[in-house]
Parts: sequence; C-alpha cells; structure tokens
Amino acid sequence: MSMPVDQSRRALLLGRPGSGGVLRPPWAEREPHFLDRCTQCGDCLSACETGTLIKGGGGYPEVDFSRGECTFCTACVQACDAGAFSDPEQDAPWSYVATISQACLGMTGIYCRSCGESCEVGAIRFSFNQYRVPEPTVEVDACTGCGACVEGCPAQAVKVGP
Ligand code: SF4
Ligand code: SF4
Ligand code: SF4
Repeated sequence: MSMPVDQSRRALLLGRPGSGGVLRPPWAEREPHFLDRCTQCGDCLSACETGTLIKGGGGYPEVDFSRGECTFCTACVQACDAGAFSDPEQDAPWSYVATISQACLGMTGIYCRSCGESCEVGAIRFSFNQYRVPEPTVEVDACTGCGACVEGCPAQAVKVGP
C-alpha cells in the first residue's frame, strides 16, 4: 500500500527554495523541475572545475563555497544528460548574493581586505575613515554570488545565498 506523500516534508528533506540552507548549483536554484529531473548521477560534480559542487541531502547536488567559487563555466549544465538545469543562454544562474556578518574583522577594529581582493567584479566596497579600519559592504547589484570571497575570509564572516 502506498503512503500519501507529505509535500511539505518532502520539500524540507530535498531542500526546495525556502526550506532553509541548501544552495543548489547555478541554473538549478530557479529551475522548478530540478529535483524531479535530477537522477543524482553526480556527473555535474565530476565536471565542476573548482570542486564547489558536493553531493548533498538525498544525493542531490549542492554548492559548498568553502571548497571554491563558481566560475559560471556551465560545465555542470553541459554534463547533465537528464536536462535538470535551465538554459544558461536564457536564464540567470541564480539569485545568490554575498552578505557580511558582524564577525568581520573590520567591524572589530582589525585590518583586513581579503574579501575585496577576491572579488573580480569589485562588488565589495570599503568604508574610508581615518580613525577606523575599513569596513566592507556588498553592492548587491554588482555581486554575482560567485562565492570567491567566502573561502579567503579569516573570520568566516561572508555567506552567499538567496
Ligand atoms: S558553472 Fe562551472 S564552476 Fe560553477 S558549479 Fe557549474 S561546473 Fe562548477
Ligand atoms: S575577508 Fe572577512 S574579515 Fe576580512 S574584511 Fe572581508 S568580511 Fe571582513
Ligand atoms: S560573491 Fe563573488 S561577486 Fe559577490 S562579493 Fe563575493 S566575490 Fe564579489
């Protein structure tokens, strides 16, 4: 006898958007059919040049920015025979942006510009005040959510997410 499916519980287990914490690969976060189509084969993980994709809950791919950034190379999309991703030529990769917490060294009076030096698009700006060390802020319109700023932060103050 088949049991009725509790959709909200299934969503929680599989990490549907809004269920908290799970970061899907680029061109997957906004693809509504990603979890239905993904066969958990792991081909996207093997294709990822930076190793930022990991096998997450239920065997589905997730992004772990502590391992590396996303270069938006689209190798993961091209490796997927199941057609689980959306079209990189039509769609934005995701809605992710970086945020910086109060754990940032600059906010505790210690000089650090590591995240800004990692950001190729210059989305992290630092305050100027001759009496204080610089403090970073993220320009969300410029941030691509690539995650390059995450790994180098000595205070684990940078998070990237929706
Ligand atoms: S776009 Fe490239 S770097 Fe980004 S997750 Fe896919 S394979 Fe990895
Ligand atoms: S790398 Fe981390 S500690 Fe350093 S300025 Fe950026 S957020 Fe702050
Ligand atoms: S996620 Fe990428 S684009 Fe955004 S602030 Fe960090 S390094 Fe810059």
